[in-house]
Amino acid sequence: MKRTRRTEIVRYSRRFVVREGTSTATDPEGGLNCRWCASCAMQVALISLDDACMSGLSLEAVQRQVEAGRIHLVTVGGSPLICLNSLIQI
Ligand SMILES: [Zn+2]
Repeated sequence: MKRTRRTEIVRYSRRFVVREGTSTATDPEGGLNCRWCASCAMQVALISLDDACMSGLSLEAVQRQVEAGRIHLVTVGGSPLICLNSLIQI
């Protein structure tokens, strides 16, 4: 009897759409807030925690990812912002 082996490949992806001027993390001129992320060692776009939760992750999930070091938190003027570069890599 011939045995058939079936392999199913499932790929999940997350899509981010960042619209300038709509984020709470934009600069006064409406552009994305870009700052240095020490973990990425480069300039990155930063978004608010609320905006990060719009990616489909719950607030608790974002906090767990931050604690695990997979999502980077950058403090700007006392406000914690999320490194978009790290968010799109999870
Ligand atoms: Zn980063």
